[in-house]
Amino acid sequence: MIAEKFDVFLFDLDGVVYVGDEPLPDAVDSVTRLYEMDKELRFLTNDPRPTRRAVASDLREMGINAQEDEIVTSGWATAQYLSQQDVTTTAVVGSEGLKTELQTAGIEITDTDPEAMVVGANEETTYRDIRRATRHIDRGAAFVGTNPDGSFPTPDGPAPGAGAIVRAVEAAAGTEPTVVGKPEPLMFEMAIDGLSANMSAVVIGDNPATDVLGAHHAGHTGILVADEEPTATSARDRQEPELTISTLADLFTEEIEPWESPPYSWPDQIRPGVAAVVTTDSDEVLLLKRADTEQWALPTGSVERCEPVQEAISREVMEETGIRIQVEELTGVYSRPEQQVFSYPSGKTVHFITNCFRCTIEAGTAEADKEEALEVGFFGVNDLPSDILPMQPQWIADAIDMSGPCAIR
Ligand SMILES: [Mg+2]
Repeated sequence: MIAEKFDVFLFDLDGVVYVGDEPLPDAVDSVTRLYEMDKELRFLTNDPRPTRRAVASDLREMGINAQEDEIVTSGWATAQYLSQQDVTTTAVVGSEGLKTELQTAGIEITDTDPEAMVVGANEETTYRDIRRATRHIDRGAAFVGTNPDGSFPTPDGPAPGAGAIVRAVEAAAGTEPTVVGKPEPLMFEMAIDGLSANMSAVVIGDNPATDVLGAHHAGHTGILVADEEPTATSARDRQEPELTISTLADLFTEEIEPWESPPYSWPDQIRPGVAAVVTTDSDEVLLLKRADTEQWALPTGSVERCEPVQEAISREVMEETGIRIQVEELTGVYSRPEQQVFSYPSGKTVHFITNCFRCTIEAGTAEADKEEALEVGFFGVNDLPSDILPMQPQWIADAIDMSGPCAIR
Protein backbone atom coordinates (compact mmCIF):
# COMPACT_ATOMS: atom_id res chain seq x y z
CA MET A 1 0.00 0.00 0.00
CA ILE A 2 0.97 3.61 -0.58
CA ALA A 3 1.44 4.38 3.13
CA GLU A 4 4.25 1.82 3.37
CA LYS A 5 5.89 2.72 0.07
CA PHE A 6 7.03 6.27 0.93
CA ASP A 7 8.98 7.85 3.80
CA VAL A 8 7.79 11.44 3.35
CA PHE A 9 4.23 12.65 2.73
CA LEU A 10 3.85 16.19 1.39
CA PHE A 11 0.20 17.20 1.80
CA ASP A 12 -1.53 20.11 0.16
CA LEU A 13 -4.03 21.52 2.65
CA ASP A 14 -7.08 23.16 1.08
CA GLY A 15 -9.11 20.51 -0.72
CA VAL A 16 -7.02 17.63 0.68
CA VAL A 17 -7.00 17.92 4.47
CA TYR A 18 -9.77 20.50 4.87
CA VAL A 19 -12.14 22.80 3.02
CA GLY A 20 -12.59 26.10 4.81
CA ASP A 21 -12.68 25.29 8.55
CA GLU A 22 -13.92 21.73 8.08
CA PRO A 23 -11.64 18.69 7.85
CA LEU A 24 -12.46 16.38 4.95
CA PRO A 25 -13.81 12.87 5.68
CA ASP A 26 -11.05 10.40 6.74
CA ALA A 27 -8.40 13.18 6.68
CA VAL A 28 -7.72 13.43 10.42
CA ASP A 29 -7.66 9.64 10.93
CA SER A 30 -5.46 9.04 7.89
CA VAL A 31 -2.91 11.71 8.80
CA THR A 32 -2.81 10.49 12.41
CA ARG A 33 -2.21 6.93 11.22
CA LEU A 34 0.78 8.10 9.13
CA TYR A 35 2.23 9.82 12.22
CA GLU A 36 1.81 6.53 14.11
CA MET A 37 3.76 4.78 11.33
CA ASP A 38 6.64 7.26 12.03
CA LYS A 39 6.36 8.84 8.60
CA GLU A 40 7.71 12.34 7.93
CA LEU A 41 4.77 14.66 7.21
CA ARG A 42 4.78 18.14 5.73
CA PHE A 43 1.85 20.40 4.90
CA LEU A 44 2.29 22.76 1.96
CA THR A 45 -0.10 25.56 1.09
CA ASN A 46 0.12 28.20 -1.62
CA ASP A 47 -1.99 30.48 0.58
CA PRO A 48 0.44 33.33 1.43
CA ARG A 49 -1.77 34.91 4.10
CA PRO A 50 -1.42 32.87 7.33
CA THR A 51 1.75 32.29 9.35
CA ARG A 52 3.06 28.77 9.80
CA ARG A 53 2.15 29.01 13.46
CA ALA A 54 -1.49 29.84 12.63
CA VAL A 55 -1.75 26.94 10.17
CA ALA A 56 -0.28 24.48 12.70
CA SER A 57 -2.70 25.75 15.34
CA ASP A 58 -5.69 25.34 12.96
CA LEU A 59 -4.60 21.78 12.21
CA ARG A 60 -4.30 20.94 15.91
CA GLU A 61 -7.80 22.32 16.47
CA MET A 62 -9.02 19.83 13.85
CA GLY A 63 -7.25 17.01 15.69
CA ILE A 64 -4.05 16.78 13.61
CA ASN A 65 -0.98 17.03 15.80
CA ALA A 66 1.08 19.13 13.38
CA GLN A 67 4.09 21.20 14.47
CA GLU A 68 5.02 24.61 13.07
CA ASP A 69 8.18 23.29 11.41
CA GLU A 70 6.10 20.80 9.41
CA ILE A 71 4.22 23.64 7.69
CA VAL A 72 5.37 25.32 4.47
CA THR A 73 3.28 28.31 3.35
CA SER A 74 4.14 30.30 0.23
CA GLY A 75 4.54 33.36 2.50
CA TRP A 76 7.11 31.66 4.76
CA ALA A 77 8.86 30.17 1.71
CA THR A 78 9.05 33.66 0.16
CA ALA A 79 10.74 34.95 3.33
CA GLN A 80 13.26 32.07 3.24
CA TYR A 81 13.89 32.68 -0.47
CA LEU A 82 14.61 36.39 0.12
CA SER A 83 16.97 35.49 2.98
CA GLN A 84 18.83 33.06 0.72
CA GLN A 85 19.17 35.91 -1.82
CA ASP A 86 20.63 38.17 0.92
CA VAL A 87 17.70 40.59 0.61
CA THR A 88 17.34 42.68 3.78
CA THR A 89 14.56 45.15 2.83
CA THR A 90 11.29 44.65 1.00
CA ALA A 91 7.98 46.32 0.31
CA VAL A 92 4.90 44.12 0.67
CA VAL A 93 1.43 43.84 -0.79
CA GLY A 94 -0.21 41.25 1.41
CA SER A 95 -1.43 40.12 4.80
CA GLU A 96 -0.14 40.68 8.33
CA GLY A 97 0.77 36.97 8.36
CA LEU A 98 3.02 37.41 5.34
CA LYS A 99 4.66 40.47 6.92
CA THR A 100 5.25 38.52 10.14
CA GLU A 101 7.03 35.72 8.26
CA LEU A 102 9.25 38.24 6.44
CA GLN A 103 10.15 40.05 9.68
CA THR A 104 10.82 36.76 11.48
CA ALA A 105 13.33 35.99 8.71
CA GLY A 106 15.09 39.28 9.52
CA ILE A 107 13.79 41.26 6.57
CA GLU A 108 12.80 44.87 7.14
CA ILE A 109 9.51 46.01 5.58
CA THR A 110 9.76 49.45 4.04
CA ASP A 111 8.50 51.55 1.15
CA THR A 112 11.76 53.51 1.05
CA ASP A 113 14.03 52.08 -1.67
CA PRO A 114 13.22 48.40 -0.98
CA GLU A 115 15.49 45.77 -2.52
CA ALA A 116 12.48 43.55 -3.24
CA MET A 117 8.77 43.91 -3.91
CA VAL A 118 6.79 40.97 -2.51
CA VAL A 119 3.27 40.57 -3.89
CA GLY A 120 1.08 38.12 -1.98
CA ALA A 121 -2.20 39.95 -2.03
CA ASN A 122 -5.16 39.55 0.33
CA GLU A 123 -8.76 40.80 0.59
CA GLU A 124 -7.62 44.34 1.47
CA THR A 125 -5.49 44.84 -1.66
CA THR A 126 -6.36 47.96 -3.64
CA TYR A 127 -5.45 49.78 -6.85
CA ARG A 128 -3.07 51.91 -4.76
CA ASP A 129 -1.17 48.75 -3.74
CA ILE A 130 -0.81 47.65 -7.37
CA ARG A 131 0.45 51.14 -8.24
CA ARG A 132 2.89 51.16 -5.30
CA ALA A 133 4.27 47.75 -6.33
CA THR A 134 4.57 48.86 -9.96
CA ARG A 135 6.60 51.92 -8.96
CA HIS A 136 8.99 49.99 -6.70
CA ILE A 137 9.65 47.47 -9.49
CA ASP A 138 10.11 50.27 -12.00
CA ARG A 139 12.77 51.73 -9.69
CA GLY A 140 14.64 48.45 -9.54
CA ALA A 141 13.12 46.36 -6.72
CA ALA A 142 13.21 42.60 -7.44
CA PHE A 143 9.65 41.44 -8.19
CA VAL A 144 8.68 38.36 -6.17
CA GLY A 145 5.20 36.79 -6.28
CA THR A 146 4.26 34.46 -3.43
CA ASN A 147 2.14 32.12 -5.57
CA PRO A 148 0.62 31.86 -9.06
CA ASP A 149 -2.98 30.93 -8.11
CA GLY A 150 -5.37 33.10 -10.12
CA SER A 151 -8.29 32.16 -7.90
CA PHE A 152 -9.31 30.05 -4.93
CA PRO A 153 -12.67 28.36 -4.31
CA THR A 154 -15.27 29.82 -1.97
CA PRO A 155 -18.88 28.75 -1.33
CA ASP A 156 -19.97 31.61 -3.65
CA GLY A 157 -17.61 30.61 -6.47
CA PRO A 158 -14.02 31.53 -7.31
CA ALA A 159 -12.40 34.55 -5.61
CA PRO A 160 -9.27 36.30 -7.00
CA GLY A 161 -6.09 34.80 -5.53
CA ALA A 162 -2.69 36.45 -5.05
CA GLY A 163 -1.76 35.28 -8.56
CA ALA A 164 -4.42 37.57 -10.04
CA ILE A 165 -2.80 40.59 -8.34
CA VAL A 166 0.73 39.37 -9.22
CA ARG A 167 -0.35 39.33 -12.87
CA ALA A 168 -1.91 42.81 -12.56
CA VAL A 169 1.43 44.14 -11.26
CA GLU A 170 3.27 42.19 -13.98
CA ALA A 171 1.10 43.79 -16.67
CA ALA A 172 1.61 47.27 -15.21
CA ALA A 173 5.35 46.96 -14.53
CA GLY A 174 6.16 45.04 -17.73
CA THR A 175 8.43 42.74 -15.68
CA GLU A 176 8.06 39.02 -14.99
CA PRO A 177 8.09 38.01 -11.32
CA THR A 178 10.00 35.25 -9.62
CA VAL A 179 7.17 33.07 -8.28
CA VAL A 180 7.81 31.03 -5.12
CA GLY A 181 4.69 28.85 -4.67
CA LYS A 182 3.76 25.54 -6.29
CA PRO A 183 4.25 24.36 -9.07
CA GLU A 184 7.75 25.85 -8.77
CA PRO A 185 10.02 23.36 -6.96
CA LEU A 186 11.16 25.75 -4.20
CA MET A 187 8.50 24.91 -1.59
CA PHE A 188 9.01 21.18 -2.12
CA GLU A 189 12.77 21.62 -1.69
CA MET A 190 12.24 23.57 1.55
CA ALA A 191 9.75 20.95 2.77
CA ILE A 192 12.31 18.13 2.61
CA ASP A 193 15.32 20.24 3.60
CA GLY A 194 17.22 18.44 6.34
CA LEU A 195 15.80 15.00 5.52
CA SER A 196 18.01 12.24 4.16
CA ALA A 197 18.34 12.42 0.36
CA ASN A 198 17.44 8.76 -0.08
CA MET A 199 14.01 9.12 1.54
CA SER A 200 11.21 8.73 -1.01
CA ALA A 201 8.53 11.42 -1.05
CA VAL A 202 4.99 11.61 -2.39
CA VAL A 203 2.89 14.74 -2.93
CA ILE A 204 -0.85 14.56 -2.29
CA GLY A 205 -2.88 17.45 -3.69
CA ASP A 206 -6.16 18.39 -5.33
CA ASN A 207 -4.80 20.62 -8.11
CA PRO A 208 -3.10 18.99 -11.12
CA ALA A 209 -1.60 22.33 -12.28
CA THR A 210 0.11 23.19 -8.99
CA ASP A 211 0.36 20.07 -6.78
CA VAL A 212 0.92 17.32 -9.36
CA LEU A 213 2.97 19.36 -11.81
CA GLY A 214 4.99 20.73 -8.87
CA ALA A 215 5.55 17.21 -7.51
CA HIS A 216 6.96 16.11 -10.85
CA HIS A 217 9.10 19.26 -11.22
CA ALA A 218 10.61 18.36 -7.84
CA GLY A 219 11.06 14.69 -8.81
CA HIS A 220 8.34 13.28 -6.53
CA THR A 221 5.36 11.01 -7.14
CA GLY A 222 2.04 12.88 -7.40
CA ILE A 223 -1.34 11.71 -6.09
CA LEU A 224 -4.50 13.66 -6.91
CA VAL A 225 -7.43 13.82 -4.51
CA ALA A 226 -10.51 14.16 -6.72
CA ASP A 227 -13.82 12.50 -7.40
CA GLU A 228 -12.90 11.91 -11.04
CA GLU A 229 -9.71 11.12 -12.97
CA PRO A 230 -8.38 14.30 -14.62
CA THR A 231 -8.32 14.43 -18.40
CA ALA A 232 -4.70 14.89 -19.40
CA THR A 233 -3.93 16.30 -22.84
CA SER A 234 -1.31 13.60 -23.52
CA ALA A 235 0.27 10.61 -21.83
CA ARG A 236 3.42 12.74 -21.26
CA ASP A 237 1.51 15.55 -19.53
CA ARG A 238 3.26 16.16 -16.20
CA GLN A 239 -0.01 17.27 -14.65
CA GLU A 240 -1.12 13.63 -14.91
CA PRO A 241 -0.98 12.06 -11.41
CA GLU A 242 0.32 8.54 -10.79
CA LEU A 243 -2.98 7.85 -9.02
CA THR A 244 -6.29 9.57 -8.32
CA ILE A 245 -7.94 8.87 -4.95
CA SER A 246 -11.24 10.13 -3.56
CA THR A 247 -10.21 10.08 0.13
CA LEU A 248 -6.98 9.91 2.13
CA ALA A 249 -8.15 6.54 3.50
CA ASP A 250 -7.15 5.13 0.07
CA LEU A 251 -3.48 5.65 1.09
CA PHE A 252 -3.85 2.48 3.17
CA THR A 253 -5.46 0.29 0.51
CA GLU A 254 -4.18 1.38 -2.92
CA GLU A 255 -0.91 0.53 -4.68
CA ILE A 256 1.10 2.93 -6.87
CA GLU A 257 3.98 2.97 -9.34
CA PRO A 258 6.33 5.82 -8.35
CA TRP A 259 7.14 8.66 -10.75
CA GLU A 260 10.38 8.45 -12.67
CA SER A 261 11.72 11.79 -13.86
CA PRO A 262 12.35 11.89 -17.63
CA PRO A 263 15.72 13.28 -18.82
CA TYR A 264 14.29 16.60 -20.04
CA SER A 265 12.68 19.66 -18.48
CA TRP A 266 9.02 20.57 -18.77
CA PRO A 267 8.73 23.23 -21.47
CA ASP A 268 6.98 26.58 -21.03
CA GLN A 269 6.33 26.71 -24.76
CA ILE A 270 6.19 24.54 -27.85
CA ARG A 271 7.44 26.20 -31.04
CA PRO A 272 7.70 25.22 -34.71
CA GLY A 273 11.29 25.39 -35.91
CA VAL A 274 13.09 25.03 -39.24
CA ALA A 275 16.57 23.85 -40.23
CA ALA A 276 18.40 23.79 -43.56
CA VAL A 277 20.91 21.29 -44.93
CA VAL A 278 22.27 23.52 -47.69
CA THR A 279 24.40 21.40 -50.05
CA THR A 280 26.79 22.40 -52.83
CA ASP A 281 27.48 20.58 -56.11
CA SER A 282 30.54 19.02 -54.48
CA ASP A 283 28.43 17.58 -51.62
CA GLU A 284 29.56 20.02 -48.98
CA VAL A 285 27.19 21.31 -46.28
CA LEU A 286 26.83 24.89 -45.09
CA LEU A 287 27.44 25.27 -41.34
CA LEU A 288 27.76 28.30 -39.12
CA LYS A 289 29.51 28.74 -35.81
CA ARG A 290 26.78 29.97 -33.49
CA ALA A 291 27.51 33.13 -31.55
CA ASP A 292 25.64 31.86 -28.44
CA THR A 293 27.11 28.36 -27.96
CA GLU A 294 30.24 28.72 -30.14
CA GLN A 295 29.38 25.35 -31.71
CA TRP A 296 29.02 24.54 -35.39
CA ALA A 297 25.40 24.10 -36.48
CA LEU A 298 23.01 24.07 -39.41
CA PRO A 299 21.12 27.29 -40.03
CA THR A 300 17.98 27.05 -37.88
CA GLY A 301 15.22 29.28 -36.59
CA SER A 302 11.61 29.67 -35.54
CA VAL A 303 8.55 29.93 -37.73
CA GLU A 304 6.93 33.32 -37.20
CA ARG A 305 3.17 33.94 -37.15
CA CYS A 306 1.44 33.28 -40.53
CA GLU A 307 4.77 32.22 -42.09
CA PRO A 308 4.92 29.00 -44.18
CA VAL A 309 7.91 26.83 -43.24
CA GLN A 310 9.64 27.23 -46.65
CA GLU A 311 9.59 31.02 -46.23
CA ALA A 312 10.83 30.68 -42.65
CA ILE A 313 13.91 28.63 -43.57
CA SER A 314 14.70 30.84 -46.58
CA ARG A 315 14.53 33.92 -44.37
CA GLU A 316 16.65 32.36 -41.61
CA VAL A 317 19.42 31.26 -44.02
CA MET A 318 19.44 34.71 -45.65
CA GLU A 319 19.60 36.45 -42.24
CA GLU A 320 22.35 34.22 -40.86
CA THR A 321 24.56 33.74 -43.90
CA GLY A 322 23.47 36.11 -46.71
CA ILE A 323 22.75 33.19 -49.06
CA ARG A 324 19.53 32.88 -51.05
CA ILE A 325 18.44 29.25 -51.13
CA GLN A 326 16.18 27.02 -53.16
CA VAL A 327 14.18 24.72 -50.85
CA GLU A 328 14.31 21.24 -52.43
CA GLU A 329 12.47 18.90 -50.06
CA LEU A 330 11.50 18.11 -46.49
CA THR A 331 14.02 15.55 -45.20
CA GLY A 332 13.25 15.28 -41.47
CA VAL A 333 10.84 16.22 -38.69
CA TYR A 334 12.49 16.22 -35.26
CA SER A 335 10.43 16.42 -32.10
CA ARG A 336 11.67 13.96 -29.48
CA PRO A 337 11.86 15.90 -26.20
CA GLU A 338 15.17 14.21 -25.26
CA GLN A 339 16.79 16.13 -28.12
CA GLN A 340 14.40 19.00 -28.78
CA VAL A 341 13.72 20.60 -25.35
CA PHE A 342 16.08 23.50 -24.67
CA SER A 343 16.46 25.63 -21.55
CA TYR A 344 17.70 29.19 -21.95
CA PRO A 345 19.56 31.47 -19.55
CA SER A 346 16.34 33.53 -19.24
CA GLY A 347 14.83 30.53 -17.43
CA LYS A 348 12.45 29.71 -20.28
CA THR A 349 12.30 26.17 -21.62
CA VAL A 350 11.14 25.57 -25.19
CA HIS A 351 10.21 22.36 -27.05
CA PHE A 352 11.04 22.80 -30.75
CA ILE A 353 9.36 20.77 -33.49
CA THR A 354 11.97 21.22 -36.21
CA ASN A 355 11.26 20.71 -39.91
CA CYS A 356 14.53 20.13 -41.75
CA PHE A 357 14.87 20.81 -45.48
CA ARG A 358 17.51 19.93 -48.04
CA CYS A 359 18.30 23.11 -49.92
CA THR A 360 20.59 24.30 -52.69
CA ILE A 361 22.24 27.67 -53.23
CA GLU A 362 20.48 30.04 -55.62
CA ALA A 363 22.60 33.17 -55.15
CA GLY A 364 24.99 34.92 -52.81
CA THR A 365 28.29 34.28 -51.05
CA ALA A 366 28.33 32.94 -47.51
CA GLU A 367 29.12 35.63 -44.97
CA ALA A 368 28.45 35.46 -41.24
CA ASP A 369 25.92 37.82 -39.74
CA LYS A 370 27.78 38.93 -36.62
CA GLU A 371 24.69 38.87 -34.39
CA GLU A 372 24.01 35.18 -35.09
CA ALA A 373 27.22 33.55 -36.26
CA LEU A 374 30.93 33.93 -35.63
CA GLU A 375 31.83 32.35 -38.97
CA VAL A 376 30.33 30.29 -41.78
CA GLY A 377 31.91 27.45 -43.70
CA PHE A 378 31.35 24.48 -46.00
CA PHE A 379 32.22 20.97 -44.80
CA GLY A 380 32.31 17.61 -46.52
CA VAL A 381 29.49 15.39 -45.22
CA ASN A 382 32.10 12.85 -44.11
CA ASP A 383 34.33 15.53 -42.62
CA LEU A 384 32.06 17.44 -40.21
CA PRO A 385 33.65 19.47 -37.38
CA SER A 386 33.81 17.66 -34.03
CA ASP A 387 32.13 20.53 -32.16
CA ILE A 388 28.86 20.34 -34.10
CA LEU A 389 25.53 20.30 -32.21
CA PRO A 390 25.11 16.64 -31.17
CA MET A 391 21.91 15.75 -33.05
CA GLN A 392 22.79 17.46 -36.30
CA PRO A 393 25.07 14.86 -37.99
CA GLN A 394 21.93 12.66 -37.99
CA TRP A 395 19.89 15.45 -39.59
CA ILE A 396 22.56 15.87 -42.27
CA ALA A 397 22.69 12.11 -42.91
CA ASP A 398 18.88 12.04 -43.23
CA ALA A 399 19.02 14.86 -45.79
CA ILE A 400 21.86 13.37 -47.83
CA ASP A 401 20.36 9.86 -47.88
CA MET A 402 17.67 10.41 -50.51
CA SER A 403 16.71 6.75 -50.83
CA GLY A 404 14.08 6.68 -48.07
CA PRO A 405 11.12 8.79 -47.01
CA CYS A 406 11.36 11.88 -44.80
CA ALA A 407 12.83 10.96 -41.39
CA ILE A 408 10.61 11.32 -38.34
CA ARG A 409 12.62 11.31 -35.12
MG1 LIG B 1 -5.52 22.53 -2.70
